[in-house]
Amino acid sequence: MRRISLLVLVLTFGLTACAVSTQQEVEMGAGYAQQIERQLPLVEDAELTRYINVLGDSIARIADARNLDWSFRIVDSPDVNAFAIPGGFIYINRGLIERATSLSQVAGVIGHEIGHVTMRHSIKQMQKAQGTNLGVTLVCVLTSVCNNEASQAMINIGASAAFASFSRQDEDEADAEGVTYMVDAGIDPSGIPEMFQILLDERTRKPGALDTWFRSHPLEESRIEASKARIAQLPPERVRGLTRDSQNFQAFKARLAALPPSPPSR
Ligand SMILES: [Zn+2]
Repeated sequence: MRRISLLVLVLTFGLTACAVSTQQEVEMGAGYAQQIERQLPLVEDAELTRYINVLGDSIARIADARNLDWSFRIVDSPDVNAFAIPGGFIYINRGLIERATSLSQVAGVIGHEIGHVTMRHSIKQMQKAQGTNLGVTLVCVLTSVCNNEASQAMINIGASAAFASFSRQDEDEADAEGVTYMVDAGIDPSGIPEMFQILLDERTRKPGALDTWFRSHPLEESRIEASKARIAQLPPERVRGLTRDSQNFQAFKARLAALPPSPPSR
C-alpha cells in the first residue's frame, strides 16, 4: 500500500515539481537516505557523529527557516566527496575531512551542501528531468518502489544525476549561500575557497586522485576567485573575529584519523 501511494505521490508531483511541499521533500529525501545508508559505509562512532551534527546544525538552523530535521553523516571512504539529499540529509566523506586543516574548511563544505538543500536544487533537477527516462529513474531513486538489483544500478546513475551534477549556476549559488550562512553562524567563510584550493593543489600534484570529486563538482580557479571576491565585499566588521579553527575540531580530526582504515570502495 505504502509503496503504491509513494509512487503515485512522486508521479503526481513530478509533473509540478515547483509545487513539491517541504513535507513531500522530506519524505522523498528520507526514503533515499535510507537506501544510501544501506549501501555506503558510514562512520558509526557516536562522538564523531555527534560533533559533525552539532557543527552542521549550527549552520543549518541559520540557513533554512523550514525547521528541517537535519542529519549529517560521515561516509567512511578515503575518496573526496560530499553531497546533499533533499530534506536535509548531508553526507561528507572521511577523505574530505582528513584533507581539511581547519574547522572553517569543513564548515565551508557543509555550508555549500546546505545551500543545495535550502535552494532546492535537486527539486529543480527533478523538474528538468520531466519527459526523459531520468524522470522514471527518479521515481525509483526517490522511493523504494524499484527495490531489485537492476534498479540498484539505476539508483546510482539516477542519484548522481539528481544529486551530484548540479549546474554551474547551482554550484555558484550554493557557494554564495555557504558564505552567507557561515558568517551568520560566526565561522570564517574563507574556509570555502581554502578547501577548494587544497583540492585543486592536490589535483595538480596527483592528477586522477580526486576524479570522483571533480566529476561531480565543477571546480576551477574562477570559482575560488568568485568566493574570495564575495568575502572581500563583506563589511569588515562582519568578518572580524569569526571562528577559523577550534581545539574541538582538531580533537575530532585526531579521533577520525585513529579509526581503522576505511573499507575498500565497492
Ligand atoms: Zn555542490
